[in-house]
Amino acid sequence: MTAAGSDVLQPGRLWWNWFGEQYFVPAHTVSPRTEEDVRQAVVTAARLGLPVRSSGKGHANPAVVPTSGVHIDFSTFSQVIAVDKDLMRVTVQPGISVGELSRYLRTQGMSLNNQGDIDTQSVCGAIMTATHGAGITLPCMSAQLIAARIVLADGSFLDLSAEADGELFKAFQASIGMFGVVVSMTLQAVPSFNILKRSWNADIEDCLGGLHQRLEDNRTFWFFWLPRRESADLFVLPSGVPNKASRDYDICHMRSYNAVPVDEPAPASEPGAQFDHSSVIFPNIYEPNFREIEYAVPFDDFEATFDEVRHLFLTKHTDFTFPVECRPVKADDSYLSAYAERDGYALSVSGPLDVSTWTMLRDVDAIFERHDGRPHWGKHHFMTPARLEKLYPRYDAFKKMRREIDPAGMFLNDHLRALFA
Ligand SMILES: Cc1cc2nc3c(=O)[nH]c(=O)nc-3n(C[C@H](O)[C@H](O)[C@H](O)COP(=O)(O)OP(=O)(O)OC[C@H]3O[C@@H](n4cnc5c(N)ncnc54)[C@H](O)[C@@H]3O)c2cc1C
Repeated sequence: MTAAGSDVLQPGRLWWNWFGEQYFVPAHTVSPRTEEDVRQAVVTAARLGLPVRSSGKGHANPAVVPTSGVHIDFSTFSQVIAVDKDLMRVTVQPGISVGELSRYLRTQGMSLNNQGDIDTQSVCGAIMTATHGAGITLPCMSAQLIAARIVLADGSFLDLSAEADGELFKAFQASIGMFGVVVSMTLQAVPSFNILKRSWNADIEDCLGGLHQRLEDNRTFWFFWLPRRESADLFVLPSGVPNKASRDYDICHMRSYNAVPVDEPAPASEPGAQFDHSSVIFPNIYEPNFREIEYAVPFDDFEATFDEVRHLFLTKHTDFTFPVECRPVKADDSYLSAYAERDGYALSVSGPLDVSTWTMLRDVDAIFERHDGRPHWGKHHFMTPARLEKLYPRYDAFKKMRREIDPAGMFLNDHLRALFA
């Protein structure tokens, strides 16, 4: 433990996110080793009148982390604190990556119910931004959170739980770090399972025509639409999968995941299939070569929205080649997740890290706006308070709670103040 509070505040160090798009040098950097280090950092920041922002593994695109004040870097604050095998619950430090947690759970006979398509982000970053996988019965990761400990602006610890704190907990669940600094989180896990993953390519007509049946038949069904022949190379999509497509562009790369209890034998192997533990199958590999927005439209609006996006890429933005990723996600009861009280379909659209990509993303944003699309807090978006007011039934309630819990706005930065002050 650090003896004097100010010792934990080191001179500010340059920080940049995974994409290299966001970077800043804060007044002070903190690399905590204990919860008390975090508390001391917040108390000292308050005394100096400095704002505080935290980071996990820096995979969020927008400026959710940059601060001129105190930056608390949780990338190595990443231990498992406790596990309850009977209740299948695990308590972790916030910087542990989804992959580290997932692999740890495997050793304890458990799995995460669902996770995103990478596992290198932190558990806290994933939960604070409502990171999700795919599946109409599977909510985002914020819904796996059942308790958390945070340091408030006055330096006190607050223990929050879904059971005891009702509305406050729901508001906290996807709050982008605006309530305080998270020092631990307890997640609900499920019994360990393997996944049979199938991947194949087919025409877009085949994909959309069979969509609802495939969603019903599989724990998880999702797809990438490939507008051009080169599209598959850009997200490192595998090329050796069964190909039922009649052409080489305007096709889909589809994937289904189905759970198999770990004590059941592996199914017979088939082309394009993989079978392994959930912690191995869930994650994919991406390169930081893209700029992305992702919005979730209401589930029933997906096909109309997708048609417009496809039309835009086939007629106007014909130079853009990155795949469009489409994933259904079940509703949850948090205040700010993109799936708050609404089943959603997430459409993710990307282009290269060029200035011209913004023009294309603006056009896509206009389509999403017409369909009441809600942003992913960890990806770029073009939100304004007026749009948020329309999209989130509990936006005003969230802001009221945020002001009560952090009246001086210590945990805001410019990006968040514009939307949530
Ligand atoms: C290649 C790639 C693939 C992705 N795949 C998916 C996917 O499949 N599904 C999906 O939904 N998303 C996906 N994402 C988005 C990603 O999950 C989110 O951006 C997530 O927030 C990243 O977590 P991080 O640890 O990197 O967070 P950071 O960027 O470090 O932080 C994210 C937010 O969490 C807050 N935070 C972090 N730690 C703390 C703390 N201790 N206390 C308070 N606040 C804290 C930060 O202040 C910030 O607001 C992907 C991103 C990339 C780059």
